[in-house]
Amino acid sequence: MPPLIAIPANVRQVCATLTKAGFEAVAVGGAVRDALLGRAPGDWDVATSAHPDDVLKLFTRCIPTGLQHGTVTIVTGHGEASHVEVTTYRGDGAYTDGRRPDNVTFGVPLVEDLARRDLCVNAMAYDPERDVLHDPFDGRGDIARKLIRAVGDPVARFSEDGLRVMRAVRFAASLEFGLDPATVAAIPSALAVLGKVSRERVCEELRKILDARLPSLALVPARTTGIIAVIAPVLASTIKDTERWAEIVDVAPRRARLAALMLPIGNKPTVEKLLRELKFSNDELRIAAPIVGAIVGAALTPVTTEIDVRRMLSPLGRELAPIAAEVLTAAGAASAAVARTIVERGDPLVASELAVGGKDLMEAGIAAGPGLGKAIATLLAAVLDDPARNTRDQLLALALT
Ligand code: ATP
Ligand code: MG
Repeated sequence: MPPLIAIPANVRQVCATLTKAGFEAVAVGGAVRDALLGRAPGDWDVATSAHPDDVLKLFTRCIPTGLQHGTVTIVTGHGEASHVEVTTYRGDGAYTDGRRPDNVTFGVPLVEDLARRDLCVNAMAYDPERDVLHDPFDGRGDIARKLIRAVGDPVARFSEDGLRVMRAVRFAASLEFGLDPATVAAIPSALAVLGKVSRERVCEELRKILDARLPSLALVPARTTGIIAVIAPVLASTIKDTERWAEIVDVAPRRARLAALMLPIGNKPTVEKLLRELKFSNDELRIAAPIVGAIVGAALTPVTTEIDVRRMLSPLGRELAPIAAEVLTAAGAASAAVARTIVERGDPLVASELAVGGKDLMEAGIAAGPGLGKAIATLLAAVLDDPARNTRDQLLALALT
């Protein structure tokens, strides 16, 4: 019989070393879940009955990553992939700040370590020595039923750590599972606690939602339970049709999704402010905010002619124009097909794509200074109206009239 779970040799070796020294050692959490799902796990985490001091003594190459939480990283070879995190079984004390336990206790049995975890599918452990799955909350049943369910009382678990409500909807999307009704029903009661969670952690969950094949599986419950209203009030108040909003995000390719998500807001400064508050990177907001601004501005007076669409795409520049076309396509905008044509054909959209530059114009006798800038703007406007004008002769003639 093959083992229940195929476990990498270095992780197995770490468990074997701990077991030979008389301790328990099991693979735990997300990797066990992913392996049972037939997905390639990212990192393997090991949980052990050994105290962190014992772990440090047993391995020659280790990094004391988070000793206060009981975590030691074992280096089993070269590179990040060789790192195995070993965490001592722990019970969490009371949660008073809605973010982390006030204290943790070592020396608890495995079942207690599993009981502090968020979701039943994340609360399984696999013992590679005995080929036994420890699954006290029927995570395997949930995998078979494709169900996201909190461990124990969902109201209590969600109020301990406000991030868990976001993790619940995020896993619904990334695993393509449904949400257990009692688990969803507990979300509104934990929203005040979600407000206390750091924006960085919220942002990380949002990114993972956007990485899913169908973000709507998280976005729809996040909107209906009030999660969106807590993390992004201006967005929540502008969404008119939740299903439609989420569907546009699903259809958009990954790089266009943040703009699609923010589309209901409809103006650049507000999107910028929200994304900054949510700790999205400058790169992310430099894509999403201008696109939302440009598209919604154009939507007020529906643009469908090639001239209008080029004028709409021009301020976005060469890099953002294709992404804007993707958002328009996902949103089913009237201008989507025209925008795609303009991008694919490579119509000039910015001054640097004109057949003449500032140097050519100065050689032709136009003085440097504000007049030169105005001349270039006039030429760009002419080329946006008709790309066929983008030849050196035509533009020089135009500039000198
Ligand atoms: P992925 O890494 O694919 O997002 P994961 O399940 O590995 O999923 P991690 O954030 O790496 O998620 O956490 C590892 C494990 O720690 C989880 O499987 C879960 O058992 C536990 N865990 C993580 N965050 C929480 C939390 N906020 N509350 C309770 N348990 C948690
Ligand atoms: Mg993980």
